[in-house]
Amino acid sequence: MISFEDLKIYCKNKHFSLSENAETIYESIKRRRGMCPCRVDEVMCPCPDHLDEIDDVGHCKCNLFVRTYYDPFPKFRRKYPDLFDIGGYFISFGFGPGWEHIVDLACSRIQRENEKFKPEDRMKIVQVKEKFGGLRLYTNMYTDETEKIIDIAERAAAETCENCGSKEDVSAKGGWIKTYCAKCHEALGRK
Ligand SMILES: [Zn+2]
Repeated sequence: MISFEDLKIYCKNKHFSLSENAETIYESIKRRRGMCPCRVDEVMCPCPDHLDEIDDVGHCKCNLFVRTYYDPFPKFRRKYPDLFDIGGYFISFGFGPGWEHIVDLACSRIQRENEKFKPEDRMKIVQVKEKFGGLRLYTNMYTDETEKIIDIAERAAAETCENCGSKEDVSAKGGWIKTYCAKCHEALGRK
């Protein structure tokens, strides 16, 4: 039977965590000697369906696990207020936590490049996203230097696990292609 501590460890670095009611739900799991409390079939917790359920409705059936969202935007907007023109051409800003340092470096380099221009002529970042397992960063204007900065960031992301930042055993694969290390492919990958 999985211990409560192990459940916490199990959730670490994943896209979900234990819910607010986890301790109460764990009492039912204990009463059932480690079995999922809400299945007709006797299956051990974590049950085979929890990943699908978290993806589909945001939590597993017994509400032990809930999806957590990583939203890097508030932090970046505070750090680089001049790089984003919300309401202008801005589209979106989203990627996994493992790529944060790569995007951060690209932003600081673009900000430095921007100093060459008058404030009203400065570049804005309009979109940062993951597509087909790769990092995509778009600005509203480009200089040779910006293209270089973006190219370096996209290449670095291709060699870095989008989830945990590891550079070990990184590959792009899966049904929805994702760039993850072997451990994260195993933990987050869909069969
Ligand atoms: Zn990883």
